[in-house]
Formats: sequence, structure tokens, C-alpha cells
Amino acid sequence: MRTPITLGGHAVPAFESRGTIDGPRVAVLGGVHGCEYSSIAAVVRLMRGLGEHHGTVVGVPVVSMDSFTQRSPFVVPSDGKNLNRAFPGNPDGSYTDRLAYDIFTQLIEPADAVLDLHGGDLVEALEPFAIYNDARSRDLALAFNLPYVVDSTGSLTGMTSGAAGVPAVLAEAGGIGQLEEESVALLTDGSRNALKYLGVRRAVPHHERGRRGARPPARTRLRRARRRVAANRRPPQHEARPRHKRRAAPRPTARRSPARSSPPRW
Ligand SMILES: [Zn+2]
Repeated sequence: MRTPITLGGHAVPAFESRGTIDGPRVAVLGGVHGCEYSSIAAVVRLMRGLGEHHGTVVGVPVVSMDSFTQRSPFVVPSDGKNLNRAFPGNPDGSYTDRLAYDIFTQLIEPADAVLDLHGGDLVEALEPFAIYNDARSRDLALAFNLPYVVDSTGSLTGMTSGAAGVPAVLAEAGGIGQLEEESVALLTDGSRNALKYLGVRRAVPHHERGRRGARPPARTRLRRARRRVAANRRPPQHEARPRHKRRAAPRPTARRSPARSSPPRW
């Protein structure tokens, strides 16, 4: 069901889907950074294709409406703060602090798990990854089945995923202000896998799989990504396995964040 909620003084579109059977409440956030379009589209696609499920799923495609409408990368335009360093927020702080407080109290705090989707900002081109901030969220991050999983335990504060107090993951695919089908599909499928892990959703119906059936297994994609980073060249192309021979995709291994020359901004 589509229902508006008020965040930071803006009425923003939101979806709430209640299952027929009791189960966890999951919050799916998009648009913490307002120019990460593939992740915003993924929240809409996930919610529209949810089908029957357990529990309750709340999806908000754009939680920072000023960042979205003013095309402001990384920061909220009115005070220049990164919303994803402001959680759990402060009702007496500046605009970003108050916005974070609204998002935290209305969406994150009532949830049993949080999926925060990001898409690389206007000037970022990123390898898809999932990041988690505490041990209880590790398996949920792995469930996204993205090429990289980053253990950020103890290294960043104020993120949605760190403030939640429940299993929470930030997943990121896409970038440079583009709406990319492959990134939308990665985040939508990853979120569906995460919902299955949480017991909200059962197997993905066949007709919803679309192009994913032609993709190589996760292990192959992980190897390709590692080679690309190590050798800075395009990996050789492999034939995808026929669908009937595909096995369950193995989960990637959690890795520490590689050394960086500048602070991460997701
Ligand atoms: Zn972001």
C-alpha cells in the first residue's frame, strides 16, 4: 500500500506491505544520498514485486527529498552534512540532524532489520558491495550476494546500518548519476535474497527472475572483480552456464575494507 510519511518536513512517498503471516518488520531505505538513482529505482521495483510474504516491509525510495530535488551529491543542501553520518539524529540539531531523527524514529527504530540501498553518487563509479557495521549483520550482508562485502565494524559512525541496533546492511551498486538496469537488478535481487534470509520472503518466483538467469554464478563474478582490481584490466569473458546446470550461488567471503586515500562517503 502506498502511503505518504513526513520526513524532514516533506511528505515523501512510502510503501508498506503487510504479509498474511506474522514475521519481522523490515525497513528498506533509498535516497539517503539523493543522486543515487539506481538504488532509488531498486526500492520501487522491490516493493512493487514483493508478492506474498511474511511480516511487514516498509520501503521509502527517497528519504532525503531535498537532496533528490536539488541534485545534491553526498550532502544535504541546507547544512552541507552527510546524512549517512548523522544517525540516530537529533531533534534539536540542524536540518540533517532532524531529518536523521525522523528517519530513525519512524523507520529504523521500529524495524527488526534495515536494508539501506545506495547507488554511487554523481561522481562515483563503484564496484557493487555490501557493508556492515557489526557482527550480527554479517550474514545479512553476505545474503545480498554482491561481489564485495565490507566489514566496517568500528570504523564509521552515524550510518543507518550502524545506528540500527538490529541486523542492518548498506548495499551499493551503480553511480555517476546514471539509472543502470544492471545495478537496479543487482540491488533488487540482493534485497530479495536478504528478505529470504530474514524469513520474509520465500523463493523468487521464476517469472520474476528476468535476465538474472543469464548471469554467471556469484563465485565467477567475484573472481572477475578481483582480477580486475589486481591487474587493472578487463577479465576474459566466460560463457554463462545454462540455467538448468546452475547451482545455488556460493556466498562471497567477508573482507576488510581495502586501504583508501580518502574517507569513504557512502
Ligand atoms: Zn550513498
